[in-house]
Amino acid sequence: MNYQNLNVSELTELVKKHNHLYWDLNSPAITDYEYDALINALKDLDPNAEVLNHLGPTFSEIGVEVKHNQPMLSLDKCYDEETLLKWTAKNPLNSTWIMMPKIDGMACSLIYKDGLLNRAATRGTGEIGEDITLNVVNIVPKQIKLHGEIEIRGELYMPISVFNMQSEVFANARNAVAGIIKRKEDRTDCGIKFLAYDLIGSSKETMVEKLESLSLEGFNIPYWRHFKDTFFMQTEYEQVLAKRDYFDYEMDGIVFRIDEDEKYFEMGFTSHHPKGAIAYKFQGDYGETYLRDVQWRISRTGCLNPIAIVDPIKLSGANVTKITLHHAGMIKTRNITINAKVLTVRRGGVIPHLEKVLIPGDTPVLLPDSCPQCGNTTRLEGDFLYCNSNGECSLAHRIMHFISSMDIEGIGLTWIEKLIDEGLLNSIPDLYRLQRQELIKLDNVSDTRADQWLSQISRSKNIELSKFLTSLGIDQLGKKASEVLEENFKTLEKIRTLTISEIDDINGFGEITAKSIIDGLNKNSNLIDELLGFIQLKNTEFVQSTGKFNNVSFLFTGTLSIMKRAEAESKVISLGGNIASGVSKSLNYLVVGDQGKPGSKLDKAKSLNVNIISESQFIDMIN
Ligand SMILES: [Zn+2]
Repeated sequence: MNYQNLNVSELTELVKKHNHLYWDLNSPAITDYEYDALINALKDLDPNAEVLNHLGPTFSEIGVEVKHNQPMLSLDKCYDEETLLKWTAKNPLNSTWIMMPKIDGMACSLIYKDGLLNRAATRGTGEIGEDITLNVVNIVPKQIKLHGEIEIRGELYMPISVFNMQSEVFANARNAVAGIIKRKEDRTDCGIKFLAYDLIGSSKETMVEKLESLSLEGFNIPYWRHFKDTFFMQTEYEQVLAKRDYFDYEMDGIVFRIDEDEKYFEMGFTSHHPKGAIAYKFQGDYGETYLRDVQWRISRTGCLNPIAIVDPIKLSGANVTKITLHHAGMIKTRNITINAKVLTVRRGGVIPHLEKVLIPGDTPVLLPDSCPQCGNTTRLEGDFLYCNSNGECSLAHRIMHFISSMDIEGIGLTWIEKLIDEGLLNSIPDLYRLQRQELIKLDNVSDTRADQWLSQISRSKNIELSKFLTSLGIDQLGKKASEVLEENFKTLEKIRTLTISEIDDINGFGEITAKSIIDGLNKNSNLIDELLGFIQLKNTEFVQSTGKFNNVSFLFTGTLSIMKRAEAESKVISLGGNIASGVSKSLNYLVVGDQGKPGSKLDKAKSLNVNIISESQFIDMIN
């Protein structure tokens, strides 16, 4: 092309366009030689042209927040034909409908300006999404024929065939997409695909026209059907459900939408969903497996609930190894035995439960006499088995204790209970397995909230040894005792092998305390090992000790006249000594203040032959 005949503004537009094609879309429309000629033509006419300062890539970084032009709303949902027909009855007269599978991937908005891809974003909160253009640019068409500002919405998904080849890396296909598409460094798309299902800003007035137009523009579109009569809706739903395995994408239901935009918009919107569309969700996935063990999980109210451990089975794309049995009464009424063949079902993402026993097993399941968590006695009330500690030993309380000891902020007890109910937390280490995609599916959990939680949890992965010890919730191993243990023994390896007498030798610890700590550490051995898979321990920076008073104990009595007592005590500690809690044979020095009555401590110290010194003698010692 001869650029010499063009004026500055024409050249500027061309430079912008080809720079974008070259750098952002990786799809040059002219040769490098022509591109250079174009730049030079502009430089000749206007060497200071602003556009020349902006040559190079222009897409935002991955993860930059973007505001959607129109909110990306969720869909209202139903689970049966009756509710679906109630919805169609509310639709405007003479509506027709379009049906598409609801793909279980990640919703994505694409903005095209004058035919060129301008921005790709996640749904995010619906109002605000995250920029993912750089990772999507090679998955969707870079150029379309439609002009003006066009928004195309659809679903990014990992085809089942692709997922199956790398399923050991990802829990399910949807998690895989979310993980890959938000990566900041690695640009490989790992086989992710895009299905377009909506077109905003064109002159098309029905969904059928939009889908046809999207297809002509080079987009893949989902399987769809058009209805003039509600009569076939249920049949179509059942057929898609039956043919589910033939599609190369996961789906969790079917979307019905009014085909004509005019009638669709006439229905209006709630803040959450459009009224002109509805998702008819699949009921859930069934599967047969063998029950191998029953564990008991304590609820926040102190109720012991049975959880069956089963041979791993894949339900709705997730690996399932545990299923809920609801309450102790079910063991008897359903005749649940070890090694039974069972039918299990997973509905809408919650923990799967036992549908029925297909073939009884060979070993009965006994109700525990004592709480597996705290060892307290249990009692049976109707169908429910309770721990007599009334929930103090519950998972929610233990997780809360862990969270506050580990300085994790912003997650309250109510949220922990919710996460437990949703099956996302079954143990303390599960905190480190929480996934953003699972969290934001919960009601009232925004992207921001999920991110705050995850960053707080992530921060706790590098924690002081003493805080980690406290977090275990071991009886007698509180904050102070944990600090003293760390100060004396430095490493967790050492602390885990301590004997009663080694702990007992530290002042302030008695034999009962020492035994309780050792028992607690042994009992929590698996938990500690599991947590260490996520957590890196660091040593607390204690006040530098000169060691002058190493293993020397002091106790103060009476009122000191030169130093304040707190000052004297902290001096002892800073020199490596410690403060005894009372007068005993192991006390090294009783410091008697000049004023006030020394009282019974002095008498006891005398009888035990403890060194008794005055405040001035103490000051001589520290100097
Ligand atoms: Zn208990």
